[in-house]
Amino acid sequence: MVIIFFFLLGIVIGSFLNVCITRIPEEISIVSPGSHCPRCKTPIKPYDNVPVFAWLWLGGKCRACGQPISPMYPIIEMSTGLLFVGALLDFGVTQATVKWLFFTCLVIVLTVTDLRVRLLPDVITWPGFAAGLLFSAVVPPNDGFARFLGYRLFQARLPGYAAGILDGLLGAAFGSFLLFGLAKAYKAARGREGMGMGDVKMMAMVGAFLGLRGTFLTILVGSLLGSLVGLAVVLALYAGGWKSGLAKRASTRGLGTENGLRWAIASQYQLPLGTFLGIGGLLIVYATPVVAARWAIFRGIIG
Ligand SMILES: [Zn+2]
Repeated sequence: MVIIFFFLLGIVIGSFLNVCITRIPEEISIVSPGSHCPRCKTPIKPYDNVPVFAWLWLGGKCRACGQPISPMYPIIEMSTGLLFVGALLDFGVTQATVKWLFFTCLVIVLTVTDLRVRLLPDVITWPGFAAGLLFSAVVPPNDGFARFLGYRLFQARLPGYAAGILDGLLGAAFGSFLLFGLAKAYKAARGREGMGMGDVKMMAMVGAFLGLRGTFLTILVGSLLGSLVGLAVVLALYAGGWKSGLAKRASTRGLGTENGLRWAIASQYQLPLGTFLGIGGLLIVYATPVVAARWAIFRGIIG
């Protein structure tokens, strides 16, 4: 029963996240007007606005104009529903679940917005950073760094909420400085912007929720994932003859060999780093309890 409730709650909230994802970059209100077809502007009737299911029984088409509706909507609703169930299984009905579900919602909006329009809006990252610190006061990142610093610097035991906030601040500082450094290094090496301040602010938000260790792992997993997928995309573009006409014209003007130019053009293709950082962050949050449980069993066996 609780699982079904979490799933239904997740798909309903997922449909609200869709509204945020489509409206925030356009800078229109997320409250009014009500949902309407993006093509013919016809308001969507309440029974056609049911998450996931409406898309299925409408066959992915608008009832008024018959134009296709993006499968992005049901995919995001479904993913949110499944992540809600995942959080319940990982953390039970606890304050930790509230924290990680809030984090999940922010990350879904950022991840998809960066993928669609290469933007990480400030209206998500800044309030997200503040919310992360507040949540860390109640459900601290299990780091212990702040406690350790408290002992070393003041020979005092920090109260739980202070240690949680400090761990969040440490994570935020670490994440944003590391991303800032990476952005500078990338620009120096490749001569163009590879990541922007949006990524820096996003990592401040992620750090406030996850603390130092989680932030480090998020950047590690996210950039590894981004590099692998990025390489695969560039290879696919090259193999698929992306912009080969352009390369051919350039090579007839003596700018280089056609294949060399095709590779140069394909490797300019940019993937949104924020998307991969977001996926990395969710992986860390949802996999950590599973790994910790396995590790406990493993230690039980060998000990
Ligand atoms: Zn329509």
